[in-house]
Amino acid sequence: MFRQIKGQDHVINLLSTQIANDRIAQAYLFHGRDGVGKFTTALYFGMALNCLSVSEFRPCGVCSSCHKFLSFEHTDFLYLFPTTNLDMSLDGEIKKADALKLYQGYIQNKIDHPWQDFIFGSSIEIRKESVMMLLKRLELSATEAKYRIVIIEDADMMNPSTANAFLKRLEEPPANTVIILITERIQALLPTILSRCQQVFFKPLSASVIEQMLRERFDTNIGLSRSAARIADGSFKEAARIAGEESDSMREMAFTILDMASRNDEWAYFNLSIKLKDQLNAELCMELLRFLSIIVNDIAILPHNPELITNIDKIELLLDLGMNSDNVAEKARNFLLSCEDLSRKIKGNVNLGLIINKIFYSLRLFLRAGN
Ligand SMILES: [Zn+2]
Repeated sequence: MFRQIKGQDHVINLLSTQIANDRIAQAYLFHGRDGVGKFTTALYFGMALNCLSVSEFRPCGVCSSCHKFLSFEHTDFLYLFPTTNLDMSLDGEIKKADALKLYQGYIQNKIDHPWQDFIFGSSIEIRKESVMMLLKRLELSATEAKYRIVIIEDADMMNPSTANAFLKRLEEPPANTVIILITERIQALLPTILSRCQQVFFKPLSASVIEQMLRERFDTNIGLSRSAARIADGSFKEAARIAGEESDSMREMAFTILDMASRNDEWAYFNLSIKLKDQLNAELCMELLRFLSIIVNDIAILPHNPELITNIDKIELLLDLGMNSDNVAEKARNFLLSCEDLSRKIKGNVNLGLIINKIFYSLRLFLRAGN
């Protein structure tokens, strides 16, 4: 199952070697940006340490121990994550029905869609009662597993007093227990916690790995998976979000705008800009801009480097779009520069109506001859 984790070979090699040599650290810190496989690796590592298979390919994913880990039901697998106040008792019990539903919803989402965030709806942290429950459980010995596995997600989201209570335990780790902290904000952790853990860095994923994962897991079409992989900047989670339905319509919208910019129907083009001003918030506007940049870049490189384009499912349209423009490469460069400027302005809360006007104006310059 380790082979299912893509783009982190250095981590998998390190952990596999430690397992083979039986040199397991008592505490790890898995860090790196969101959506690159830290949690899945932590889970599989815990599974591998307890897998009952005699095969060299552990975790097997099918033995009873692996099964219990995969369904989050193993009694020696303790999983902490930031939540709202669920009124959890020190025994880990949640009595209120709506709080329990939220907790179970989080776990089910983690099993079904580990690349999707579960939204609790109000502010979250790793709560003191969760850590107290953990500390209490660690007083007892492991019940059935060779190694008891503790995974703490977003470990930076503990307040200082909770972190200090946890730190005491980390200083004298219980026997046969492996604690794995996960964070994308390593600088937010107490130095005393950092010094107790073996740090393992997870790299951003390459665009080609993300593209392959999108195609394998969601059957995303090639143009969208390539675009999403480029926009996602190393995070599979971000790419999966972009490749979701809403964003696919944003890519289509980008093509529609370009198509209309290339025609001479001023009225329709103007109306489309009015419609977008109603629909787009800053985040969607940023996404539209990213899709437009990728398409414009494609139009510019298509005549000379067709093998390098991103939107390979739209070649005909790209050819059509580039046909009426002259000096495409230079105009594309100008457009991409103005995109960078507009991105900064969106982040700086400049009026979106003005931004959309500017996008529409720049696209027309790009796609028509004689400008
Ligand atoms: Zn197994």
